[in-house]
Amino acid sequence: MRPVVAKFGGTSLADAAQILKSRDIIRADERRKFVVVSAPGKRTDADQKITDLLYLCHEHARRRLPFEEVFKVVRERYLGIVQELGLKVDLREQLEEGRARIAEIGAAGGAPDYAASRGEAWNGPIVAELLGYPCVDAAEIIFFDEQGRLDAQRTYATCGERLGVLGHAVIPGFYGAMPNGAVKTFSRGGSDVTGAIVARAVLAETYENWTDVPGMLITDPRVVPGAYTIEVVTYQELRELAYSGAKVLHEEAVFPVREAGIPVNVRNTNDPRHDGTLVVPEGHPKAKVGFDITGIAGRKGFSVILIDKAMMNGEIGFARRVLSVLEQNGVSLEHMPTGIDTLSLVVEAKGLEGKAEKVLREIEIAVQADKVQLQGELALIAVVGRGISRHPRSAATVFRALLDAGIHVRMIDQGSSQLNIIVGVDGARFEDAVRAIYRVFVHDDERPAPVA
Ligand code: ASP
Repeated sequence: MRPVVAKFGGTSLADAAQILKSRDIIRADERRKFVVVSAPGKRTDADQKITDLLYLCHEHARRRLPFEEVFKVVRERYLGIVQELGLKVDLREQLEEGRARIAEIGAAGGAPDYAASRGEAWNGPIVAELLGYPCVDAAEIIFFDEQGRLDAQRTYATCGERLGVLGHAVIPGFYGAMPNGAVKTFSRGGSDVTGAIVARAVLAETYENWTDVPGMLITDPRVVPGAYTIEVVTYQELRELAYSGAKVLHEEAVFPVREAGIPVNVRNTNDPRHDGTLVVPEGHPKAKVGFDITGIAGRKGFSVILIDKAMMNGEIGFARRVLSVLEQNGVSLEHMPTGIDTLSLVVEAKGLEGKAEKVLREIEIAVQADKVQLQGELALIAVVGRGISRHPRSAATVFRALLDAGIHVRMIDQGSSQLNIIVGVDGARFEDAVRAIYRVFVHDDERPAPVA
């Protein structure tokens, strides 16, 4: 039986009551052998995350200011949880040792990593005692190289061996050790990365990521309130959605498990009966291909540089000359739709800030264009779905929805991955467009029946 790795985020472990919910989830499935924990997060919107408080302690120490007041909040939070749960673990010594070390590292002008990592390091023993699992310090099994990159080979070998022998364990997320033993953290939200590394090292059957949302949503709930959860998404679709602006898993957290073909299941600690979102490799039996789309993501804030030149089509090297102007000016290109005598460059508006005129002028000279114009306020919307290439009606449905909503499509690009259709609309119509597409695929009774 392959184990399941379950990672619990900060809100899932924010207080004794949440920790008990997490414990019950773990106990409900005996395959949940390896548990990766975050630091206690916010209990309410107005609350503080332990990790933020620890960064604050470090910052005080670095400026040689007293930080007892802030540290007291941290200390009381942990001791309060231990007491409320009636545990035997005595964290007082570890907390005191940590406080002294934060002061020492800060005063010496060191990095905040040690301070930040204590949030998970002190949470590990709490969850471990509650479950009756051993706690393994992440600094003993997750390693970075001299450049601060994950030393994948050493990490997977050590992690796999140590955890394999133990059979079950709690591992604090977010950090590992440098070759000299100093603690280093991943970027913020990095317990997700630890979870993926552990899942890969123990060849987990599934990597469960327990959080406080019902999985990934089909689209941004600020645009479509009550948007449904995506049930199954492939890794490739996930990448397309993330690139187009959807807030999904940490990129580094996807890589290790994607490489090993391990599914990720994003679930809600506050609603464990809900299956959440399952992220699977392409071709996985659960990744059925239907007419429906998987998700809609998008971003505003794009500009279009429109280049006109008669007989452009026959000119060799035209695009290269245009692109070199962008390169020399450090402007990155998003899309490049072409016509017979026109070429458009879709770029992020902020990439052109302060240099738009210069770039336009240089393009004009480089290709002796008849006209170079800048059009602003474009929003790009990516409609992503593994069924899109198989069901041409998907594209027709997107355009029909936009037409019915009276939205003018300013650009179309069907990615070469055939997984998405990207449309450009006026920035001011972005939300309307997303809603129209969502409605026609998700809510509209008029929609064509799915193709089996
Ligand atoms: N506690 C860390 C943070 O707040 C890491 C994590 O929660 O994933 O960024």
